[in-house]
Amino acid sequence: MNFDQLSLDPRLVSATRTAGYTTPTPIQEQAIPLVMQGHDVLGLAQTGTGKTAAFMLPILNRLLATKPAKPGAIRALVVAPTRELAEQIHQAIRQLGMNTRIRSVPIYGGMSKHAQVQQLRRNPEIVVACPGRLLDHVGDGSVDLTHVEVLVLDEADHMFDMGFLPDVRRILRLVANRQQTLLFSATMPYEIRSLADSTLKDPQTVQVGHRAPAETISHALFPVPERMKSKLLMSMLEQTETRRVLIFTRTKRRARDLADMLERNGHNVTALQGNMAQAARQKAIDGFRGGKYSILVATDIAARGIDVTDISHVINYDMPDTVDAYTHRSGRTGRAYHNGEAFTLVAELDELQVRAVEKVMGERIERRRLDGFDYQGYPTDAPEIRTPSSSSRWGQPRRGARRPSGNSAGGYRAPSAEGMAAATNAQQTQHSAARPAPHNAQPAQSSQSVAVANQRRRGQRYGRSSAS
Ligand code: AMP
Repeated sequence: MNFDQLSLDPRLVSATRTAGYTTPTPIQEQAIPLVMQGHDVLGLAQTGTGKTAAFMLPILNRLLATKPAKPGAIRALVVAPTRELAEQIHQAIRQLGMNTRIRSVPIYGGMSKHAQVQQLRRNPEIVVACPGRLLDHVGDGSVDLTHVEVLVLDEADHMFDMGFLPDVRRILRLVANRQQTLLFSATMPYEIRSLADSTLKDPQTVQVGHRAPAETISHALFPVPERMKSKLLMSMLEQTETRRVLIFTRTKRRARDLADMLERNGHNVTALQGNMAQAARQKAIDGFRGGKYSILVATDIAARGIDVTDISHVINYDMPDTVDAYTHRSGRTGRAYHNGEAFTLVAELDELQVRAVEKVMGERIERRRLDGFDYQGYPTDAPEIRTPSSSSRWGQPRRGARRPSGNSAGGYRAPSAEGMAAATNAQQTQHSAARPAPHNAQPAQSSQSVAVANQRRRGQRYGRSSAS
């Protein structure tokens, strides 16, 4: 299939060519015809699948094909959780609408309200907004949503994570006259299912992949004691052929410290933290996107919505606290069907979380050992990462401790240390698929309970630290 066959306005088809899109992605193939027929759509698609064009092309098509109920009215509203995502969607509209006169205005906090009011006065057909600032403008009377025909709620699960659902519900009441609602989410927690139930009329569901990360990503775990993480990371960056690398840490402070350490060691690196001013954030993102920096260190929240297509590696310096966070982090690589690698440094306390991630992925993630790195006796060839309760220091399991089930007869057998080293050598030049293996026989905990358990333990280890 190509874009000519989707009955889109020729000006839009031409823009997809200029944007370099040759064929529609699976979510576009599924969603575009449904949205064009006027259906409400529930889109289950993770980041990097081309979902923005999947909803935006048919919206632009509608705006070109029909007249507004009131001249100058805002006809489409896209609500997004972060300013980066809002900005990206706005840029996508500019790109896809390049041969039209349709205007979009991005509305988010951290920017001058006055400048936004000026832009709103020019009668844009589309507004792309974060909930809080949009409601501010509604309160000030500078935006009128009564004639909105199509509403898009993008990354609805993130809006829930970030506490925006009450604002979203307020916005829903303001666009009560709309004709169509599209809701996109990478995951479907209960709150989003219930939002979809109460918001969408007779929706069609389109789904690409499942909750598991995109297939263009290969995953590997690097067992390492906490205190050796920075050294391992340095060696990893030296040994691995990378383009752009996105590194995730658990806290703002760890992001800053790690970026400083990498800079001292000669890397072009910048950090992105939740409490940076918008101009500084944009500078960091633009520097990373433009190639000034080859490494970006970020926390989960700070990195939301970053759209850089050629991130070759996502490195989880700290194991994410939830399975969804793992999916979102690794989804930053392997975008637009490029290949990417997601490496996770796994410390002693991360075992439960690893199991929860593997359960969702439906396969065991390969454990790797970095060739030539001095692990000082740390057993990286172990089939499972040991927890303090099942091992003495990190040496042999305590007497009587039960070995994890992944090594039981008929299940996955850990390769020998030599085998792991050989595999590591081979993997330095090519992407490798995760090893097919049966599910871990231990019942996986829900991502939330694992997150809570991990946080509790981490709290004991590091004291309180502020996640951004
Ligand atoms: P999204 O999932 O909307 O964030 O899109 C991820 C990236 O894929 C963006 O950089 C888009 O420009 C790109 N993209 C979207 N659709 C296509 C397509 N049909 N072919 C190639 N790239 C695309």
